[in-house]
Amino acid sequence: MHIELVDSLRCPHPHEDTWLVASVTRFEGRDIVEGSLGCPVCRRQYAVREGEVDFTVSVAPGGDALPPAAAAGTAARPGETQQAAAFTLVPDEEVFLRARALLALGEPGGIVLLGGAHARNADAFEDEVQVTTLLLNAPAGLRPSGRYPSAMRATDTVPVAGGGLRGAWLDRDTATPAIMAAAARALRRGGRLVAPVEVMLPAGVRELARDRREWVAEGEGGMSAPVAIRRR
Ligand SMILES: [Zn+2]
Repeated sequence: MHIELVDSLRCPHPHEDTWLVASVTRFEGRDIVEGSLGCPVCRRQYAVREGEVDFTVSVAPGGDALPPAAAAGTAARPGETQQAAAFTLVPDEEVFLRARALLALGEPGGIVLLGGAHARNADAFEDEVQVTTLLLNAPAGLRPSGRYPSAMRATDTVPVAGGGLRGAWLDRDTATPAIMAAAARALRRGGRLVAPVEVMLPAGVRELARDRREWVAEGEGGMSAPVAIRRR
């Protein structure tokens, strides 16, 4: 998890909107590899392991388990990492260029959420477009070019500040109604949301186009505040 991305993350538990406080046990460059993010309001702690924040499980400072901020279900299972090692994530240049166009990423800067298996294109977005990628529920074991990803695991939520996303590209696994609605809220005005055609548009976005595979919609920016565009 890139340190600058922490400013854009929010506690997923339902209470007033608040930033999270990072406590880091291992950095690599500007990436938090191991540590935790703590909520100053509800005191929940979300573990960061190998660059990924797990918002599906939270632990109180004393070590007492608290109910998860959202229903668990997508947390990594034992042995998943091993299985994932055999799972090749081959980036597809044509798919990347198409997504880049749909997301209207002509200029560098901003945060782009990549859902599920779209994580395989993270390197291309980072290197060729110079946007910051934030992976949601990426396949376990993913290490684009050996770097630690800015990744998070969450169920039925996108724990990002309103207006914090420049774009979001969701796959079939991550385009649940709850995640779509949360992604729309996190999208800044004019930001793009791309999802499979069989999924309904959430509130807060306006459809621009669709083809046989996906639709693209634009954020109406209902609750967005100005957001600093950061570069890695
Ligand atoms: Zn909280």
